[in-house]
Amino acid sequence: MGKPTGFMEIPRELPEDRPPKERVNDWNEFHLHMPEEKLQGQGARCMDCGIPFCHTGTLLAGMASGCPINNLIPEWNDLVYRGLWREALERLHKTNNFPEFTGRVCPAPCEGSCVLGINEPAVTIKNIECAIVDKGFKEGWIRPDPPAVRTGKKVAVIGSGPAGLSCAAQLNRAGHLVTVFERSDRVGGLLMYGIPNMKLDKSIVLRRVGIMAKEGVKFVTNTEIGKNYPADKLLKEFDALALCCGATKPRDLPIEGRNLKGVHFAMEFLHANTKSLLDGQKNGRFISAEGKDVIVIGGGDTGTDCVGTSMRHRCKSLTQLEILPKPPLERAPDNPWPQWPKVYFLDYGQQEAAALFGGDPRQYLVTAKRFIGDENGSVKAIEIVQIEWQKDDKGRFIPKEISGSEKVLPTQLVLLAMGFLGPEDTVLSQLGVERDERSNAKAEYGKYATSVKGVFAAGDMRRGQSLIVWAINEGRGSARAVDEYLMGHSDLP
Ligand SMILES: Cc1cc2nc3c(=O)[nH]c(=O)nc-3n(C[C@H](O)[C@H](O)[C@H](O)COP(=O)(O)OP(=O)(O)OC[C@H]3O[C@@H](n4cnc5c(N)ncnc54)[C@H](O)[C@@H]3O)c2cc1C
Ligand code: SF4
Repeated sequence: MGKPTGFMEIPRELPEDRPPKERVNDWNEFHLHMPEEKLQGQGARCMDCGIPFCHTGTLLAGMASGCPINNLIPEWNDLVYRGLWREALERLHKTNNFPEFTGRVCPAPCEGSCVLGINEPAVTIKNIECAIVDKGFKEGWIRPDPPAVRTGKKVAVIGSGPAGLSCAAQLNRAGHLVTVFERSDRVGGLLMYGIPNMKLDKSIVLRRVGIMAKEGVKFVTNTEIGKNYPADKLLKEFDALALCCGATKPRDLPIEGRNLKGVHFAMEFLHANTKSLLDGQKNGRFISAEGKDVIVIGGGDTGTDCVGTSMRHRCKSLTQLEILPKPPLERAPDNPWPQWPKVYFLDYGQQEAAALFGGDPRQYLVTAKRFIGDENGSVKAIEIVQIEWQKDDKGRFIPKEISGSEKVLPTQLVLLAMGFLGPEDTVLSQLGVERDERSNAKAEYGKYATSVKGVFAAGDMRRGQSLIVWAINEGRGSARAVDEYLMGHSDLP
């Protein structure tokens, strides 16, 4: 432990974000950097607790508590405090292949379970993580490190999101010949085409992919396994398969007017937007929010990204509908430490909407009743209604409409961001992989083997839509399982 009294002397401090009114004019990242001396002070706040809950990585009340990849947080906090940045980077890379992604976009369940957080603001773990790896790149410490020996075994990884990338990186490290197949034109999964640029700049994704390619991982894009490349052919060509295709089936809202022009799934909007930025031109799928009254339905990360993107398109107004109640300002009694704190906060998109339109764009406890069209078949309004949660005769909470609370809001663009139902069918059906009761690929957590010999599944495809950090956890775990299957044992962590 660097400074025994650090947590008493130094208050929590994060680098300032770029002001919302300024940052909505571009697509650059909105987080700024902090000087090294300040970061060292923040590292000194870590108490090096006897039981560091921050790196436990368990599920409590259905949510992550502590770091799901068990980052050695107190160790690198101490190293940062001492100015030993390179050693901190080595510790960080022991458990995390991609700290530059998690350091930017992880919701930081580690901070929710930081022991200091019981009665003081938590240590700024995520920001320190990001600073360590950013310095590593700046100093040139992170370089391709190909394996010294090749095993001759061939593995196909399908899907290049964080699960596929971490699986590929680990298997390559073990000496296997890894090919990653991706149906999109660019590698990265939701890191590339889900999370927008201002949260995670795409050059950061490409930088890591470039290093992996130099280490020997082969990337094949524009190839959808099961559609333009038969899945069973892969089984013959490779010694093992790792399925990391994500949970990309969006939840729909089958109400009156759903087929009107201007009602889109969030991912149609976000994918086309990032693609247009990277290509330098808008293709026919580009959806513009410029000058429109935008309605975003759904209050999670995807909804927030739709808000931030619409703000940069210069929408006319923005309303975000949330069916759940507004969270409390502080932890509720049934949500104690070290659980993930379910408290009210303004994420980046809502901050921007508040700065430009004068308030949080979210309306709570509301649902959509119908979309109203104009004479051209385009959406022109949405009818919404207030709801309350009531228990049914089986004791389950269900939403009940409050009659008389209906309202009609004008809109020309509706974005459906209500979560995802599970993985798509093509690959799983072609390979004959069994599904679990939620339609995910059936494979036990920690083992990752599916019902088909030599086929493994990881990430959102196995656990349902989740977090980058869980995808990395599963990618690493599945690599170990594949390595054991191929070699009879594994030295992978
Ligand atoms: C808009 C949005 C924002 C998010 N923001 C955050 C955030 O801020 N922080 C966070 O922690 N989590 C966030 N998440 C969740 C997180 O992105 C996912 O949990 C994570 O990316 C899952 O990783 P994965 O590798 O399992 O799947 P994915 O990232 O979904 O990658 C799957 C890949 O497989 C490819 N694929 C699918 N089928 C085939 C096939 N047949 N052949 C070839 N390729 C195929 C897909 O094209 C895709 O590239 C967000 C999710 C969304 C939708
Ligand atoms: S990966 Fe996420 S949970 Fe783990 S230390 Fe980083 S911010 Fe915290």
